[in-house]
Amino acid sequence: MKAMILKRFAPIDQNPLDLVDLPIPEPDSDEILLRIKVCGVCHTDLHTIEGELPEVKLLIIPGHQVVGVVEKVGKNTSRFKEGDRLGVAWLYSACGKCAFCRRENENLCENARFTGYHVNGGYAEYIVIPEKFAYLIPEIFSDEKAAPLLCAGIIGYRALCLSEIKPGQRLGLYGFGASAHVAIQVAVHWGCEVYVFTRS
Ligand SMILES: [Zn+2]
Ligand SMILES: [Zn+2]
Repeated sequence: MKAMILKRFAPIDQNPLDLVDLPIPEPDSDEILLRIKVCGVCHTDLHTIEGELPEVKLLIIPGHQVVGVVEKVGKNTSRFKEGDRLGVAWLYSACGKCAFCRRENENLCENARFTGYHVNGGYAEYIVIPEKFAYLIPEIFSDEKAAPLLCAGIIGYRALCLSEIKPGQRLGLYGFGASAHVAIQVAVHWGCEVYVFTRS
């Protein structure tokens, strides 16, 4: 398969990703293989590529807002079938045993693995993913519109919920990146009056 791989950290304007040919990965018994249709670009991917984050495992294929179609299922999986359209997000897997996982806060797992960071991500033709951490994409979304929901959307919607904003109330967004671009659409749909605060 073709993949864009990071071999060494460098500023984005030096085009640090290399186009390479790799074997198509084989799904383990609890994993599924997706043929990737699109993958979004998140600012965390840029931080990863520029070497601003700890513990990045080189060589790595970045990208963690992945939409793809199931090509092959592991023998112990049951949630999905060939042809299903799924999403892959930043959280690639969690241990299932630590205190956070036991409280269903696996986003805080002490042994979490992240997509395109600890394990290969979506700037490629195929990806393997534990079936537990894949999401069925509703038909209403095109591939391109679903992809940003898998990181920016998850974070923005969670923040909106934590703010306890009610329809019609006033909302302040501090900073206006990818998450806020999605959250503002939900807030406007809810009839909120929205204010954005940015350095510019
Ligand atoms: Zn992200
Ligand atoms: Zn855990």
